[in-house]
Amino acid sequence: MYCPFCRNPDSRVVDSRIQDDGSAIRRRRQCPKCGRRFTTIETTSLTVVKRSGVGEPFSRSKVINGVRKACQGRPVTEDDLAMLAQEVEETVRGSGAAEIQAHEVGLAILGPLRKLDHVAYLRFASVYQSFDSLEDFEAAIELLRSEHAEATADDAFDED
Ligand SMILES: [Zn+2]
Repeated sequence: MYCPFCRNPDSRVVDSRIQDDGSAIRRRRQCPKCGRRFTTIETTSLTVVKRSGVGEPFSRSKVINGVRKACQGRPVTEDDLAMLAQEVEETVRGSGAAEIQAHEVGLAILGPLRKLDHVAYLRFASVYQSFDSLEDFEAAIELLRSEHAEATADDAFDED
């Protein structure tokens, strides 16, 4: 790891700490040549393999960009998107695999997006699962309706 300031190829670790969620280690380093400090973040690599077979590192911002279009005009905030991306990352990292298929990332998005906004979910699912008929939409809406009914029934039960 080169010093980002003077490109000296050597640095000394002055502090290490594990990130709160345990997914990464941050190291504070000091360059012995110019004396400046910088931080490195160490995390397990997670590669997303696209349909073409090309792999690229998992990125939360890619997840957010993929979902943002479906959320246009919906009451979904940047915080909501950040939380969704975090949930997606936890799900795909939870599998323990170093390599996952791109469609698994899409699957991991569907669950949290369904909880976040029904319209955005239908938009995303219709593209992602290639809905090609009204029946596909009807089936997805039916699923949302039955979940909503269950949630409402649970609420009523809680109030008892
Ligand atoms: Zn330096």
